[in-house]
Amino acid sequence: MSLWSLFQVASQVGGEILGDGTVTPSFLSMDTRTIQPGACFVALRAERDGHAFCAQAVEGGAAALLVDHPLDSGCPQLVVPDTLAALQRWGQARLAAVRPRAVFGVTGSVGKTSTKELLAAALGGWKTPGNRNNTLGLPEALATLPEGLGAAVLEMGMSTPGEIRRLTEIAPLDFGLITLVGTAHIENFAKGRQGIAEAKGELVAGLAPGGAWAYLAADEWCRWIAGQPWARHAEALPVGEGQAYGWEGVESLGAAGEAFRLRTPAGELPVRIQLPGEHQVRNAALAAAIALRAGFDPERVAGGLGAVLPEPGRGRLVPLAGGGCILDESYNASFDSILACTMALLQLPGGEALAVLGSMRELGPEAPRIHRETGAALKAQGLSRLWAYGDFAAAYAEGFGSGARAFPDFEALRDEAGGLSAIPPGARILVKGSRFWRAERAVEFLLQSS
Ligand code: ATP
Ligand code: MG
Repeated sequence: MSLWSLFQVASQVGGEILGDGTVTPSFLSMDTRTIQPGACFVALRAERDGHAFCAQAVEGGAAALLVDHPLDSGCPQLVVPDTLAALQRWGQARLAAVRPRAVFGVTGSVGKTSTKELLAAALGGWKTPGNRNNTLGLPEALATLPEGLGAAVLEMGMSTPGEIRRLTEIAPLDFGLITLVGTAHIENFAKGRQGIAEAKGELVAGLAPGGAWAYLAADEWCRWIAGQPWARHAEALPVGEGQAYGWEGVESLGAAGEAFRLRTPAGELPVRIQLPGEHQVRNAALAAAIALRAGFDPERVAGGLGAVLPEPGRGRLVPLAGGGCILDESYNASFDSILACTMALLQLPGGEALAVLGSMRELGPEAPRIHRETGAALKAQGLSRLWAYGDFAAAYAEGFGSGARAFPDFEALRDEAGGLSAIPPGARILVKGSRFWRAERAVEFLLQSS
């Protein structure tokens, strides 16, 4: 079954076609800044009304429009009462029609994208591109899902309760994994950590009967999920010490990544990954456990894991001309990921180990405390100095104590005395911060000035 024409989409989602219904979009787009020729532009009503951008989308090469009222445009249109509902129905119907042999969902407070990449490589399967993990991005990706797939791996994210339930309605799952129940987005959860666990648990509740999910045996909130009545229809696979699946003999290969032995019910499997840090070993072990449980070949699973390269901003090592290196983790930041990446930094060979950190977001009233605790934990882990910036820079610095500098924003960090230019040559530098604070600017600056 090839991709769907507007006629076929209309037969699935309803609506009325204006213009040529045989047009077959090659993918969907909701953003005119990144639109490519051949796309169907989906006009959503969010903070801004996407209908106002349709003319621009057509100029950018849109082959069709999904709209909630007819537009005066030469471009073929599917007119529906609600474009968001139609988008979601389109993705849902396409997945059901194309039906990969096995559908895997990946969620967790941290490490979803990394683990999705590892799992898709282990399975030799399709994956949601980039970070398309919400109720817009997931159906957008599914709408043009290819046919004949052995496996599909879907990243599922959430910032509020109920979002993952909705994602599993759009995309019912056979297998799943939860990387970690942490504290990200905690401000949206009245019940704190239990609320986050319930929301992540929606992935388990959404598994088909007889499905299975993997989690870290050491994660107390995943153990809690496994014990809930709504989780009992699926097989829970704890991964870790004393379990049928686990990892042993982790060896840091410095810039080349990590080596370890995966313990499985069928014996040990040597694995090498090209991603630095023990957190990536945990991600790889979870991916391997669920892949093997689903019946995929062990050698191919190990080979697939070993082929994954770090993405920009997620574990890429950047050597500096004047010696030393940057561990570029600038894509995002949370308490758990900052600590995990600091451990990875300390395993690398080189000079002084230090961090440049932008503030974290979405922590609500707990934010100052969590930033202080992060600062203190980095000092305890063995970092000698910290350059912090953003609205909670002072809290990071207070927790870290001597050796920390705080700056209100990136410009101050870059330009003021004692800022980025004071970082000594030869250092190993972790660069990290929430998406909002765009820590990749620090990577660019350090590279240019090295
Ligand atoms: P988002 O919520 O933005 O989609 P994500 O859950 O997809 O994030 P990644 O993008 O994979 O997470 O990783 C984010 C950061 O967390 C990176 O710095 C990465 O190195 C780190 N990280 C990845 N896996 C883990 C883990 N298991 N534990 C702690 N940190 C991790
Ligand atoms: Mg992600």
